[in-house]
Amino acid sequence: MTDSMPGASRVFGNRFAVDASGRSRRVDEACFRQPNTRVRFHGERQDTASPGWRRLLELIDEAVEDGREVFRPLVDLTPLERADLVTLPPTIAKLTRVRHLVLYGSPLVRVPPEIGAMASLEVFEPYTSYALHWFPLELTRCANLGRSTVSTRALYGNYKYRYDFPQLQPEGALAKVPDRDDLDPQIWGAETIRSCSVCDGPIEPVRFRQVWISLRVATDVLPLLVNACSENCVRALPDPPEGYVATTHQGGRYVPQPEPSHR
Ligand SMILES: [Zn+2]
Repeated sequence: MTDSMPGASRVFGNRFAVDASGRSRRVDEACFRQPNTRVRFHGERQDTASPGWRRLLELIDEAVEDGREVFRPLVDLTPLERADLVTLPPTIAKLTRVRHLVLYGSPLVRVPPEIGAMASLEVFEPYTSYALHWFPLELTRCANLGRSTVSTRALYGNYKYRYDFPQLQPEGALAKVPDRDDLDPQIWGAETIRSCSVCDGPIEPVRFRQVWISLRVATDVLPLLVNACSENCVRALPDPPEGYVATTHQGGRYVPQPEPSHR
């Protein structure tokens, strides 16, 4: 599969393009291009009134209804509708019979924690979704997940480039936010944080901890964002595999990562 982008592409306000083949892609993969710039989460917010989002909600409902095992929603969206997507709706939690989720070439910048409720998920294909730089820890709840096609070169901390991880917020910062259902995704990696990634318990803002961890998920080692209710839940996390930051961490420029390796 080629990563090249045909010359003519239309650029829209929300920083994505629809190329000649009808695939939409973000054009700001510059996330990592300028050395010495601080890496931050994508700040795009999901427009839940947009046609693409509303169509996706319908497609999810249809898939829940007919119990299908392969779900490839993007092929049923027009290029413009696809370009409306920043994340997936929380209703993906209802797709408990889906074994194969195809998001090939999506413009998504984040995947919500509700993916962890897709209990039958065996194959996850976000390949060439170049704005997906991380995944939620909840993805590890998909116990049957055995195969993934993640574009690893787009990942924070990937072994080839060792891109920085965005700096996470210090302890107690969430308690100072006026509305926890209206978070700045560029700061928190989400517009809302509802429950603990580890124990699924409620979040009490003063005890909230946000950390990164790299773990093997299906085919690849992925950078996973952990929204933890407590220090205890952070301590309950497994050890990262060899070749990655050996502990949980809070990102930023000074996290010592292993040397890039082009194995
Ligand atoms: Zn917890």
